Amino acid sequence: MSTPAIITVAITGSQPTKAQNPAVPIHPAEQVESTHEAYEAGASLVHIHVRDEEGRSSSDIELFREVQAGILKHCPDMIIQFSTGGRGRAAQERGAAIRLKPDMASLATGSVNFATVIYENPPQLVEDLANDMLAHEVKPEVEIFDAAMLYNARALVERGTMKAPAHVQFVLGIPNALPAREKLLDFLIEELTEQLPGATWTAAGVGRFQLEVNHWALRRGGHARTGLEDNIYFEKGRLAASNAELVKRVADLCGKYGRHPATPKEARTLLGLRSVS
Ligand code: MG
Repeated sequence: MSTPAIITVAITGSQPTKAQNPAVPIHPAEQVESTHEAYEAGASLVHIHVRDEEGRSSSDIELFREVQAGILKHCPDMIIQFSTGGRGRAAQERGAAIRLKPDMASLATGSVNFATVIYENPPQLVEDLANDMLAHEVKPEVEIFDAAMLYNARALVERGTMKAPAHVQFVLGIPNALPAREKLLDFLIEELTEQLPGATWTAAGVGRFQLEVNHWALRRGGHARTGLEDNIYFEKGRLAASNAELVKRVADLCGKYGRHPATPKEARTLLGLRSVS
């Protein structure tokens, strides 16, 4: 019997442009279509950022609403996760779309340097976002960009600001943040097991580390993230044709590690989310 692996597709992000890869979906209709293709290829969870007309990262709740409605129409059981991160967004607006009650929202539990900027998540913002998610019954995906964020997540659970069992994502390979090192992932999993018993986890490798980190996670019983937000290439020198192509690559890998792509129903059970009939 194989075990289910939740494949997350991060379709857009805040940065990659159509000039870098024309497959990056920017407008809501493109985002819905790209998500639908990824769903058919085996993704059960979609991580969403929205962009304005000029392609800039946005907090516009109407854009989130439009994408959410399109996904609910075409892939009604897929898990919808909104980003509360993203560069170029005012702190007080980052949680605006939580009130639309997506299944999940991302929550970085600390600040960290990225390649050229500080990704700022001051303690009060983390607390406010977590409280908002709790109030709207939106499950956080804790984004672990640095080790301290794991312990900060535990503190949120202890204070009752986040429900257990938690779900976390280890993000590896961002310059100045956690490097993509297999032994580091092992350490983080060990600490997670001790600090947040019963937590589920996924991992994302950024840029050229995407596929390698997919292997590491599937081998260890974790879940896997792919998509154009993190990486625009299929292989060195060849752009990915679509989010679906990246998802299919992970879906095809699952069998090698005794896994299969989780159905949305299985993924919802694993994450303790409401089922969709
Ligand atoms: Mg994101």
